[in-house]
Amino acid sequence: MKFTRLIEFLERLEATTKRLEMFDILSEQFAEASPSDVDRIIYLVQGQLGPSFRGIELGISSKLLMRALMSASGLSQKKVSALYTKHGDLGLVAERVMESAGDAPPASLFDMLDERRNFESVTAIHEVLLEIAQCSGPGSQERKIGLLIELLRGVPPLAAKYVARIILGKLRLGVGDPTILEALALSRGDRAHKTDLERAYNLCSDLGLVATTLFKKGLKGVRAMHITVGYPVRMALCERLASADEILAKLGKAAVEYKYDGFRVQIHMTRKSLEMYSRNLERTTDMFPEIGAAVRKHVKASSLIIEGEAMASDENTGQLLPFQTTIQRKRKHGVDEMAQRYPLRFFAFDLLYLDGEDWTERPFIERRRGLEKVIGGNTVIQTSDLIITDRPEEITRMFGNAVDEGFEGLVIKRLDSVYAAGSRNFNWIKLKPSYRHELSDSVDVCIVGYFYGKGARARFGIGGVLGAVYDSKEDVFKTITKIGSGFTEDELKGLKALLDESRIRERHARVQSEIEPDVWVEPRYVIAVTADELTRSPLHTAGRRGNEPGYALRFPRFVGALRTDKKPEDATSVKEIVRLYKMQKNIKSQ
Ligand code: ATP
Repeated sequence: MKFTRLIEFLERLEATTKRLEMFDILSEQFAEASPSDVDRIIYLVQGQLGPSFRGIELGISSKLLMRALMSASGLSQKKVSALYTKHGDLGLVAERVMESAGDAPPASLFDMLDERRNFESVTAIHEVLLEIAQCSGPGSQERKIGLLIELLRGVPPLAAKYVARIILGKLRLGVGDPTILEALALSRGDRAHKTDLERAYNLCSDLGLVATTLFKKGLKGVRAMHITVGYPVRMALCERLASADEILAKLGKAAVEYKYDGFRVQIHMTRKSLEMYSRNLERTTDMFPEIGAAVRKHVKASSLIIEGEAMASDENTGQLLPFQTTIQRKRKHGVDEMAQRYPLRFFAFDLLYLDGEDWTERPFIERRRGLEKVIGGNTVIQTSDLIITDRPEEITRMFGNAVDEGFEGLVIKRLDSVYAAGSRNFNWIKLKPSYRHELSDSVDVCIVGYFYGKGARARFGIGGVLGAVYDSKEDVFKTITKIGSGFTEDELKGLKALLDESRIRERHARVQSEIEPDVWVEPRYVIAVTADELTRSPLHTAGRRGNEPGYALRFPRFVGALRTDKKPEDATSVKEIVRLYKMQKNIKSQ
């Protein structure tokens, strides 16, 4: 596909907030895509260069882009800055700047450019962007700028707008993964194909790969896709119930484990490679060297995928430390120093793949036995604590121990359940102490805007945020609460700085809201919030149907930290909110 044609689609996608229209545009686009560029088209529509677990970063700041724009156009810094002040969007600035640029590159550039390349196709643009991302080592900054100038001059001004936005990670078309999957299904004539596509996506987390397989091998090829080491599997999640009795009534004899309050890690190992992925499928391999080393040393397999929870521990006593400490291990710099200070312990709880075989379809209990066999006892990696029981009093006893020892609660698992990639269902059920009072559980909301605040708060320029939950069916975020409590002054200041980076002029296309915050932001950051209870409210859009009101949090308060381990789509879902509301009603009526 020609890049200018892709830009036409991007323009149309930008202009609409209606999902049906989006499907039409995307289906039309897929009809014109070829097996060799459909993956690149998908990545670019989502403002990326590859699946997010590859962690491809362009490494170009706004400042660097402005420098490139000046060189590419010959315009002065004063002029480019004035345009930026006027538009507040470097995409628009790039378009305007390149409109006023002459045809010939400024003289000083001639020695920088190897040759004038052809930037006609989506493939060519994608490749040069990848090349920019891959520049490293001495002189890489200059090389990046050189390539960028070449690119900006090689495409029409309108395309420069999108190039700039992609480069800065600011392409906001509101096209989420479920929307792409549905559009791909529609492009093959039937929405029902989405089930097959979704299954494949859950196993590899790479929309581009799913689309390429569909284009090259058809639905049969997609159905044959299987789990592969090096492609993170979308993680299975828990449902909630309020008591041991209810859980046993649902599962029968079950496996009961502690709910470790750290972060989830999926480890992929072959003889040659070892990678780790987080809950939101980011590559975290370089952050946890001690886990990697322990896997190499103690795990007996030639290839495998295991999952578990990592928790920081005290370097002297080995005692497990709280989440707030553990989360400090999620960092790119100062890794070794932190690994010394807060060494991680890894509690493995599932086995997905072993020595060339997919284990996800095997019953949980078999996977567990396999896991116990491959993990040799050692201090860094061990299997999670587990009992198997059908007696509520045993669960209650373990629950008491869990709470006393500072765990989050329990996770109770169906013995014969498969590993349900990418789904939250009753195969795994969590039981937490907070279920007995207040709101049954904290809720993870995605911030979609903020308010300036009144009184003392006004001096920080932020008094509270507008939070939304995720509707996976519609692939949109729906508001559920305004939160102003629970933040320290420093947290508020930090939050404002972060949110200002993703500030947008209008409501994001994927946000449904009746409330107008002072500042809209891209749905990007997730925070944990607790509240007294869930209520019904006409003010919020979460769970609203026809004339029925939506759901809202009463007396919401921020708890803990920013959930950097969650993507916006990992925020609590509308479906979970409806279940929580029912659970709350049941508890009240007991
Ligand atoms: P939370 O906000 O409570 O961590 P979540 O949305 O991340 O929840 P849930 O489905 O509620 O995910 O709970 C599953 C999470 O609990 C897993 O992602 C994992 O990180 C953690 N966990 C801790 N111990 C276990 C365990 N023994 N088995 C499965 N998951 C566990």
